[in-house]
Amino acid sequence: MFKITVLPGDGVGPEVIAGALRVLEAVRKRTGAKFELREAPFGGSAYDQTGTPLPEETLRLCLDSDAVLLGAVGGPKWDSLPVQQRPEAGALLPLRKKLEVFANIRPSTVFPSLADASTLKREVVEGLDLVVVRELTGGLYFGEKRREELPGGGCRVVETLEYTTGEIERVARVAFELARRRRGKLTSVDKANVLESSRLWREVVSGLAAQYPDVELNHMLVDNCAMQLVRNPKQFDVLLTENMFGDILSDQASQLTGSIGMLPSASLGGRVGLYEPIHGSAPDIAGRDVANPIASILSAAMMLRYSLRMDEAAGLVERAVNDVLQEGYRTADIMQPGMHRVGTAEMASLIAERI
Ligand code: NAD
Repeated sequence: MFKITVLPGDGVGPEVIAGALRVLEAVRKRTGAKFELREAPFGGSAYDQTGTPLPEETLRLCLDSDAVLLGAVGGPKWDSLPVQQRPEAGALLPLRKKLEVFANIRPSTVFPSLADASTLKREVVEGLDLVVVRELTGGLYFGEKRREELPGGGCRVVETLEYTTGEIERVARVAFELARRRRGKLTSVDKANVLESSRLWREVVSGLAAQYPDVELNHMLVDNCAMQLVRNPKQFDVLLTENMFGDILSDQASQLTGSIGMLPSASLGGRVGLYEPIHGSAPDIAGRDVANPIASILSAAMMLRYSLRMDEAAGLVERAVNDVLQEGYRTADIMQPGMHRVGTAEMASLIAERI
């Protein structure tokens, strides 16, 4: 029996997670899969209930799970709290750290019926299906930082970018394994013409290639990659890169698909995987049954595939999402002329029914 901890969180979090749970229930009925779902308080709502955004019991449940499914956290109500009590700094970042999830995986998939929702031309994005694997716990964001006053006025800042062979190798393995289960193509992105860290990155990734003869590896400089992502994104299958490059490129890649309400993510590496939509708590639309639940539903599909190893069940969910979109159902963020507009709960029910 798989144990899944569910953290609905704040804002639209509980609404979209309710949709994902409805879909998981349909998967359970259809496939007989065995999993136990335990909900726990997390984020601003947990702070309101217990005085801390990450209660000890919630953390204990997460660490004792096979996977964690998260909605979103944060909102203006908690913005003026001291940093450690705020939902993101006090709950989300510590949870990622405790779960030791060093590989962030973000697919960018364009559903055929939504090819016109992208800001790029239909022929550029139609059929797009790529995944960015971003190193999540090292590099410039975690290195030593310092600021010094200069005697003549002004300041000097120093930021350090550190990676070890081991840190590069473990995230590269995640990317090779993923590429092997997809179309077998891996592009490692770096800035090896300028940065020593990138030269080590390239050496380590190249060194692993012999262990994955079924994966075709190529290297690309990050500036070229940014250009290629908007010029011809369909050339990519799996993109692997370090923390800061990945932060920027994964947002760029996500926008190829249209709405933020469509995009799931997985953070892997530790024993327990963390699955969440890429969007935040959307306080501007919370409580109105208008948020798109598909990012959460597809996050649940990623959970089925990567943590529970239920590839078939994940495929069922993805196909159900595709079918409902093909039939013309749309939430407000992806609404197009002539389509049927539905709310959060109805969209989730339609997807669950197709399963
Ligand atoms: P956001 O992602 O919440 O919203 C950005 C825009 O996208 C808004 O217009 C929102 O209405 C829309 N949107 C988001 N999700 C949607 C959905 N499912 N369906 C339809 N439209 C959707 O980002 P923000 O407004 O910058 O941040 C709001 C709060 O969320 C802040 O407190 C921020 O700190 C927090 N946040 C949390 C996470 C997380 O929990 N992982 C991530 C980002 C932001």
